[in-house]
Amino acid sequence: MSRSVLVTGGNRGIGLAIARELAANGDKVAVTYRSGEPPEGLLGVRCDITDSAQVDAAFKEVEETHGPVEVLVANAGVTKDQLLALMSEDDFSSVLDTNLTGSFRVAKRAVRGMMRKRFGRIVLISSVVGLLGSGGQANYAASKAGLVGFGRSLARELGSRNITVNIVSPGFIATDMTAALDEDRQTEIKKNIPLGRFGGTDDIARTVSFLTGPGADYITGAVIPVDGGMGMGH
Ligand code: NDP
Repeated sequence: MSRSVLVTGGNRGIGLAIARELAANGDKVAVTYRSGEPPEGLLGVRCDITDSAQVDAAFKEVEETHGPVEVLVANAGVTKDQLLALMSEDDFSSVLDTNLTGSFRVAKRAVRGMMRKRFGRIVLISSVVGLLGSGGQANYAASKAGLVGFGRSLARELGSRNITVNIVSPGFIATDMTAALDEDRQTEIKKNIPLGRFGGTDDIARTVSFLTGPGADYITGAVIPVDGGMGMGH
């Protein structure tokens, strides 16, 4: 396969693993990054997904180099954990603006070309806590639950154009995001994971590779848990 792929937040963590997996399959992969250096061997386009003008400019750059985006992975995301009583309105709205509205911005920009091509594969990276809930993460869980309704609505709107939209729901995956949790909290979390351990970024990358590949041509609107059994489909 040699498709034009864009992974948001593909400079590190889960996004980088997805980008490397799809590049290894032969795709032309671009990643967005906000600061620092883009990863070696991939086309890096600077973009903050909270800014529509930057999103548009990033897509233009990818289109000029690799052609219209055929596979979009909306992966970029942030946490700003806080108990509700202490959560500021900015803590809430900035997480929604990145995780949910950011995915809206990139999906909206991507479907233009996909509709013209009558082909597209979109994967949204949600989280197990979107459906399970998580104390201290009301903002994050709301944003990730929102991606399910958003993605399933797109799946219905765009299916007739041969554009599939699926949602991957990772559990705890070892990245910078989870390294921020202290050791006691990590031990506590592992007690609730049937497989008894955190997943690796490759676990998510292989799932995204399947969902964007020919084996998943007839799958759309699905929420795929990759969580060691933590959510059991919830
Ligand atoms: P990291 O914190 O390691 O990486 C986050 C990525 O998102 C970085 O590339 C970051 O870019 C990018 N990003 C954040 N905000 C923006 C923005 N405004 N514009 C553009 N890029 C942005 O996270 P993970 O790799 O762990 O997580 C990736 C996705 O997976 C997230 O959506 C997360 O919610 C989800 N997830 C992660 C889980 C886990 O256990 N790790 C579990 C469930 C879901 P930069 O380097 O510039 O900051």
